[in-house]
Amino acid sequence: MHTEPRRTPGLVVARVAGAPVVLTWSWLLLVVVVALVYGRILARPEQSGLVMGLLAALAVSIAVLVHELGHGLTGAAVGLRPKEFVLTFVGGHTAFDGTGRGPWAAAAVTAAGPAANLLLAGAGLLVAPLVEGVSPWAAAVDVAVVMNVVLALFNLVPALPLDGGRLWLEVAEGLTGRPLAGLRPLGVLGCLLALVVVGAAVVLFVRFGGWPGLIVVAAAASAGATLWSGGAQAVRDAGRLRRERGRDTGGGPGPRPGPVAGTDTDRHTGHEGDHGTAPDADPGPRT
Ligand SMILES: [Zn+2]
Repeated sequence: MHTEPRRTPGLVVARVAGAPVVLTWSWLLLVVVVALVYGRILARPEQSGLVMGLLAALAVSIAVLVHELGHGLTGAAVGLRPKEFVLTFVGGHTAFDGTGRGPWAAAAVTAAGPAANLLLAGAGLLVAPLVEGVSPWAAAVDVAVVMNVVLALFNLVPALPLDGGRLWLEVAEGLTGRPLAGLRPLGVLGCLLALVVVGAAVVLFVRFGGWPGLIVVAAAASAGATLWSGGAQAVRDAGRLRRERGRDTGGGPGPRPGPVAGTDTDRHTGHEGDHGTAPDADPGPRT
């Protein structure tokens, strides 16, 4: 990975808990893609596709931001200082300054992202009756609820570099006292999930075809590549860790391996909550 600038370049639109909220240029691309795709799906006789598409893009952006703020504010509560909240094409991430507070605190920080999305979805369900039949807000609230639930569930998939994969490792460490316990099965699971995702997309494409099918296949290929890369890296790291611990006769926990796709390092220097962050966008610590 290239040398990282001190702060991710982009437009700072707000500060939360002392940390800037940064919109990157790639986030603008996300807005355009979501607006185009959802504009076609959500177009109504009484409402243009453009308006619905832009509302969907706004809903996605808010969902991702709330997810990252969930990570960041919980991190601040356990003594990690949020450094920046960044929105990108693949979602977002939160970087922290400061050192780790143990596996259970890390697990709370990780779980807070998806939990924030579920809370927002719940709030949407409460608001929905108030805007029922009011175009375009009724449809926008529906979309926002679905997006927040999907974002929460997707991020809880037990595979690296997703929150679910981190949670697996943090809980395993909390239970066993060993850093990166369960890394190998997690990696194998990630690779299997990658195959399932891509396989399912290809089957859907063969069945339904057309341009929506192509978008599904492209999205699945991207998600599959992310899951495969994270899984394969975890399996490699688990092997290295086992060899290193084999050499370590002192009975200690052994040297920690190098950065596992955003796992062990983020406990110390930063947690990267994300929405399907590609591996190359996930270098571990952001210092
Ligand atoms: Zn997250």
